[in-house]
Amino acid sequence: MNQDIRLIDLFQARHRIRGHVLHTPLAASTSLTRRVGAPVHLKLECRQTTGSFKLRGATNALLALDDAARARGVIGVSTGNHGRALAHAAKRLGVRAVICMSRLVPANKVEAIRALGAEVHISGASQDEAELEVARLVREEGLTLLPPFDHPDVIAGQGTAGLEILDDLPSVDTVLVPLSGGGLLAGVALAMKSASRDIRVVGVTMERGCAMHASIQAGRPVQVEELETLADSLGGGIGLDNRYTFRMAQTLVDDTVLVSEAEIADAIRHAYREEQVIVEGAGAVGIAALLAGRVANPGTTAVLVSGANIDMALHRRLVCEEWNAGGT
Ligand SMILES: *Cc1c(COP(=O)(O)O)cnc(C)c1O
Repeated sequence: MNQDIRLIDLFQARHRIRGHVLHTPLAASTSLTRRVGAPVHLKLECRQTTGSFKLRGATNALLALDDAARARGVIGVSTGNHGRALAHAAKRLGVRAVICMSRLVPANKVEAIRALGAEVHISGASQDEAELEVARLVREEGLTLLPPFDHPDVIAGQGTAGLEILDDLPSVDTVLVPLSGGGLLAGVALAMKSASRDIRVVGVTMERGCAMHASIQAGRPVQVEELETLADSLGGGIGLDNRYTFRMAQTLVDDTVLVSEAEIADAIRHAYREEQVIVEGAGAVGIAALLAGRVANPGTTAVLVSGANIDMALHRRLVCEEWNAGGT
């Protein structure tokens, strides 16, 4: 079995998605540079079209489909950034996209995905029932399921953010990457470690329920209880039948660091007040790790700021300090 994802796959992804996805800015951060005592740069994927890096993987996976599969269309199960990215990329490329969700999903999220041009398919009272419906649509309508992280073309697409960091900051010593299912971390780590074994790659995630961190500790994919967190885009498991991201995280990543809810809140505030950047909780965890001093001697650092899609009422409460850990 040679299913390994290689550097060449990242270059091919970059070539494919060019013109469809932004090369996002890498902005020097004066405030974090002062705090850390070493140059810190923010890779602003929160400025990516659809508000997160997920457009990279979704676009690459769509463009990698053969003509017949593309003509039949794709299906995804996500109410968050993957769903948005898939809906947007499919519309742009003229591909049918069906996004499945349960009846419990709030109406504003359903509308947001629909507004991007996807068909929303509501079924069942739970994510599990939605998945059964997905299986049926794949079987009966020939749609291709595009998962949010554990897929070679998705991982290669996310890895293009790493190639851009190397383009713009070849002297980078440490890269901080938000971590959930690990598609972003696996792709970026592959880019960095292919360039140099000495570039440190650190996954950052929340204390409240990170499946990949627990899985790396256990040496195999495990499930954890899902808890409410400000970093809602980092929720969810890695799949007990994980095929790619677990092994890549295990072999390519130097360290994983956990941040608390209060630290995530501080980082969202810091990004807004000091950098004029609106960032969602998941996107802020790298900044949180630096502010909390969780990364020792990072040297020249790139922080991947992965997304912007935060509820603006929550953002205002955070910035006005009407939010505190434990009681929202
Ligand atoms: C999906 C997502 C992540 C985590 O990416 P994985 O590939 O699942 O590890 C981080 N930040 C944001 C904003 C996301 O949408």
